[in-house]
Amino acid sequence: MTRYRIALVPGDGIGTEVLPPAEAALEAVGRRHGIEFAFDAFDWSCQRYLAEGAMMPADGLDRIRGHDAVLLGAVGWPGVPDHVSLWGLLIPIRREFQQYVNLRPVRVLEGVPSPLRGAGAGDVDLVVVRENVEGEYSEIGGRMGRGTAEELAVQESVFTRRGITRVAEYAYALAEDRGRHVTSATKSNGIVHTMPFWDEVVAEVAARHPGVRSDKEHIDALAAKLVLAPGRFDVIVGSNLFGDILSDLAAAVAGSIGVAPAGNLNPEREFPSMFEPVHGSAPDIAGQGRANPLGAIWSAVLMLDHLGHPEAGAELLAAATGALADGVSTADLGGTADTAGYTRAVLDRIGPPR
Ligand code: ATP
Ligand code: MG
Repeated sequence: MTRYRIALVPGDGIGTEVLPPAEAALEAVGRRHGIEFAFDAFDWSCQRYLAEGAMMPADGLDRIRGHDAVLLGAVGWPGVPDHVSLWGLLIPIRREFQQYVNLRPVRVLEGVPSPLRGAGAGDVDLVVVRENVEGEYSEIGGRMGRGTAEELAVQESVFTRRGITRVAEYAYALAEDRGRHVTSATKSNGIVHTMPFWDEVVAEVAARHPGVRSDKEHIDALAAKLVLAPGRFDVIVGSNLFGDILSDLAAAVAGSIGVAPAGNLNPEREFPSMFEPVHGSAPDIAGQGRANPLGAIWSAVLMLDHLGHPEAGAELLAAATGALADGVSTADLGGTADTAGYTRAVLDRIGPPR
């Protein structure tokens, strides 16, 4: 019996509705594979911020440092600025635990109405690997001359050889496993210092993986091709900003934000990694029991993969996609099931303990 301690952070809105299905699915599939989960729940959220002035307690990072992984629902709520939920919770966790890879698999699933359906959408099976801790999202810079005609703002990007190398190594190792290829997102024709550096370091990593085919595309052209011919892509590696944009674009292309999963990985497993659906707290449908839990369940699948249980992960994903293919889906996918109904269909397809 393998035992894992998982920190659960349901967060806000539908985050609190989609995590219990993921938890139940993990327990059910775990029983078939000799895996036991001990879940510890933390109430870190915008609600906590409004009541106590902080998204998480001062020693929050230490409380989850010893866990094997973090499963997060969604954080964000109207009236609480985005930078509070981001810088008060998500970014400190990503940085402290060196979660330098943001992994976003994208597939067009049977039963999901993709805007690309009919254009070879069924062949879409790609992974966006986003650099998650450096690059464009830095705090370095500032504003001067506020309100004057000379007002200006400067924002610095920070790229390091170590940072680019490790995310590119992850992307190439993944492509080696998948037996396919890597496309690097760049803009070295317009961004003349950081992006040529990115290209050079990615090329050095590519040279160490001669079995993997390499392409590079400028971000503008890549965005267009992702819509016109998404089936051409396998692993796409990009900086923090480019990866952020491409992974939302790719998730939209795949049909619904409600199905998209994400992993914030510390590949060395020196610190806990964090898994979360791509969607937000969805205030417009929160509290109604209608949220699609597939993004959270698929995130749990990524967690199983990361912890070294790909067979259990594959079984869980097959149960979740099998329910869709059999016509059980939530309203965002055009179906009639509620959160509980879809979850039941997934659990039914997981089968009894072996
Ligand atoms: P955030 O800023 O936290 O990312 P957002 O407003 O940008 O939030 P979401 O909260 O993801 O984005 O919501 C976008 C739209 O998608 C909303 O209409 C929401 O109801 C819908 N949506 C998001 N997730 C789901 C889900 N799991 N099931 C059904 N609908 C969803
Ligand atoms: Mg948003």
